[in-house]
Amino acid sequence: MSTPELVTKASQVMRAERQRMQTAAERAEAADLLPGIVLSDLVTAGPGTAGLETIRAKVSAGDRITPQEGLWLLTEAPLIALAELANLWRFRHNPDPRVTFVIDTNPNYTNFCDADCLFCAFYRKPGDKEDGYAYSIEELMAVIGRSVDLGATTVLLQGGLHDEIPFDYYLEVVREFNRRFPNVHPHLYSAPEIGKMREVSGLSYDDIMVALREAGLRTMPGGGAEILSDRVRMRLSPKKQSCREWIEIHKAAHRQGLRTTATMMYGHAEQPVDIIEHLECLRRVQDEAGGSRGDAGVGQVPAGAGFTAFIPWSYKPANTPFERQFPDEVGPSVYLRVLAVSRIYLDNIQHIQSSWFSEGKKAGQVALHFGTDDFGGTLIEENVLAEAAHHVKTTTEETIQLIRESGFTPARRGTPLYDVVETY
Ligand code: SF4
Repeated sequence: MSTPELVTKASQVMRAERQRMQTAAERAEAADLLPGIVLSDLVTAGPGTAGLETIRAKVSAGDRITPQEGLWLLTEAPLIALAELANLWRFRHNPDPRVTFVIDTNPNYTNFCDADCLFCAFYRKPGDKEDGYAYSIEELMAVIGRSVDLGATTVLLQGGLHDEIPFDYYLEVVREFNRRFPNVHPHLYSAPEIGKMREVSGLSYDDIMVALREAGLRTMPGGGAEILSDRVRMRLSPKKQSCREWIEIHKAAHRQGLRTTATMMYGHAEQPVDIIEHLECLRRVQDEAGGSRGDAGVGQVPAGAGFTAFIPWSYKPANTPFERQFPDEVGPSVYLRVLAVSRIYLDNIQHIQSSWFSEGKKAGQVALHFGTDDFGGTLIEENVLAEAAHHVKTTTEETIQLIRESGFTPARRGTPLYDVVETY
């Protein structure tokens, strides 16, 4: 579909979505949330005259591309040209031909959740006595300890949204984690969980961030973003927080000096314009946080603030309520396209992660030539995509080999702050 057709289709969907709103309150909220910052610009401005030579000149000069140009790249640019342009930004931000990875684990403290996201196979309804669990702090520390014994230096911990977990539990987890595992980095709680903390505590996002920081938290994962377009979120996870709330939580974290990652899960109900909307939201948040970009030229971009990295992955349909509507995975060529456009668009975020886990090892290797500079974690434990029948495993040795085979120098980082501790 051409760019003008995409814009026309996007505005039709937007109108239909507005008509679907039943109550005055819903319509008022929709007027505020829809069509979204980029969609509105695109519909007003039209597709423009984006083309490869214009965009190549801008990217070569370190200039910022527009949403229209991003949409053109995503939908019309030759794939191999995207790799070339993405690598300009990759080496501007990360001049060494080095690819980092981390030995990490992704346990969960509960699978009880009241958000009922249609893309999720992981959660269980509160009260499910058969498959549901909510760990005590002691049980959780035992789970974490098993991965630490296997060499994990970072623990990415997330859980479902459960009313029966008090705010003190979240703080105590951070304190106890730091007490028991002083040499391991806690990378805890995504934005939807912070939203639940607000519900159960009545505190503001800023107060929650202050409390978490005082307890010893320094970084937060970027889960729960899915697609930062409320039009899509209404279909995907209508009970979950809005795009604005996800953004406000990350801004609150950045204000308190916590670094966060940003994610995107695509390949379901979104259109290309929604992906650009997502990237634009992140770019604006990062500008506000003081993220550095390539004005200085190749190899001269200082370390930034706000988001440390952007990590996109594709929707895995198996065992999810959305499976009947969206039964197919979108595949590696879309992944490479999304990665490369993300690298070009997010000129103020230093790292873009390639995912051997979500897209497969071969696609992950190819992705290192599409602007990425990090190979993610070895994931000693992972439960969320495992519930969607997605099982891929690796080891530290294999990770090193995969990076080497791709033509890069493997380097192990200890934490999400990209501190290299060993080069191979
Ligand atoms: S994705 Fe997260 S918030 Fe949504 S249902 Fe699953 S566990 Fe709950």
